[in-house]
Amino acid sequence: MNMFDLSGKVAIVTGCDTGLGQGMAVGLAKAGADVLGIGYVDAPETKEMVESVGRRFEYINANLIANSNKQALTELVDQAVEKMGRVDILVNNAGIIRREDLLDFSEENWDDVIAINQKAVVFLSQAVAKHFIAQQSGGKIINIASMLSFQGGIRVISYTASKSAVMGITRALATELSGHNIQVNAIAPGYMATNNTEALRADEERNKAILDRIPAGRWGRPEDMQGPITFLASEASNYVTGYTLAVDGGWLAR
Ligand code: NAD
Repeated sequence: MNMFDLSGKVAIVTGCDTGLGQGMAVGLAKAGADVLGIGYVDAPETKEMVESVGRRFEYINANLIANSNKQALTELVDQAVEKMGRVDILVNNAGIIRREDLLDFSEENWDDVIAINQKAVVFLSQAVAKHFIAQQSGGKIINIASMLSFQGGIRVISYTASKSAVMGITRALATELSGHNIQVNAIAPGYMATNNTEALRADEERNKAILDRIPAGRWGRPEDMQGPITFLASEASNYVTGYTLAVDGGWLAR
């Protein structure tokens, strides 16, 4: 028996055109899952990668800031389930960061980040949980947290607020959904080389300071998410719920 096998499962992954979402979509496909992506730019590269390992890939184009209200998010999940026939896994990955000094921080940079990083996570999870319950299948929800679920960060107040909330939301969803055989966990990536950290990596001083502090001695990569996401999406983790797993090359251990 391979307890990490996801054959026959359908995963919804938000924001999978690039970066960590792409890495996780491909990881889930390698383990046997079909993938439906939701995002605001098309994902042809991810489609090719998922199909090259023999899995189906479908996509719904939607902006999760403009559509962060409950009705729109519910309709997106319903559409996804209609396309794929079922849903077994939700990965709430789409997220943004806005950098601005605290004293100047704008309301727009607060509202946009909270809308996608926090509110969309809750209402997409709610909608998917209803399908898991209707299917009587149980299911898996994996949220993407951050080192700033644990730490304060600098110049990113809305991001820190939203990612700290993601850790709490993960616990709250887990306690209410466990009775339906739905496990809810989060992955807190460390410092990963994606668009999200481009500005940090371009700043020589910050780049060195961050690298010097990572025990693994390198930035993380999208592929580093594939083992952890497969574990949390599979029956291997059926008694793990409400937990935020750091995938950080030792950053928090230091
Ligand atoms: P990224 O910027 O490459 O990816 C973000 C994803 O979200 C993209 O697919 C993008 O298209 C999607 N997205 C952005 N705005 C959207 C919108 N309005 N509507 C729909 N989709 C939208 O960065 P990433 O590093 O791959 O980020 C993925 C997740 O990981 C995010 O939640 C991020 O906060 C989190 N994270 C990243 C790091 C890191 O070091 N890179 C660390 C911790 C957490």
